[in-house]
Amino acid sequence: MDDLFSEKIKMQVLDFATDKRSLWEKNHQLYSVIFEITPKCNFNCVHCYLHDHHAAEELSYSDIIRIIDVLYEKEVLFLTLTGGDVFTRSDFLDIYLYAKKKGFIVEIYTNGALINDEIIKVFSKYPPIISRYIFIWCM
Ligand code: SF4
Repeated sequence: MDDLFSEKIKMQVLDFATDKRSLWEKNHQLYSVIFEITPKCNFNCVHCYLHDHHAAEELSYSDIIRIIDVLYEKEVLFLTLTGGDVFTRSDFLDIYLYAKKKGFIVEIYTNGALINDEIIKVFSKYPPIISRYIFIWCM
C-alpha cells in the first residue's frame, strides 16, 4: 500500500469521525449499508439464517452495480458486502473494485476459506478499509 493511499484512508476515517458524522446524523441521512450480494456459501453451518436458502437466486452483476450507483447518489459512506459468502461470486472482485473506485469505505464479511492469491493481490493494492473485521466466525 503506498503512502498516499494510506494517508487517504486515514483522512477519510478521521473526517467521517468528526464533522461529517454529525451532519449525517443531524440530517438523518443513510451513511452505512449492509448489502447481501449472494445467498450462496461454500459452507452450510447449522446456525446460519440462510441454511435453507443457499441455492436461492442471487442478484445479477448489473443489478448490484445499479444498487451501488443508487447508494453512491445517496452519499452512503460505509458499504458492507456480505452473503452467504461474497467470494462464491466469480464477479466479486469486479463488484468490490467498482465500489472502491466509487469511494465507499468497504467492509467485507466472509468465512475466509475462499480467499486466494488473486484476492490477496487485489486487497494489497485496494484493501478493505476495516480489514480486521473480516469475520472468521462461521464453521
Ligand atoms: S459460513 Fe457464514 S454464511 Fe456460510 S453457512 Fe456458515 S454462517 Fe452461513
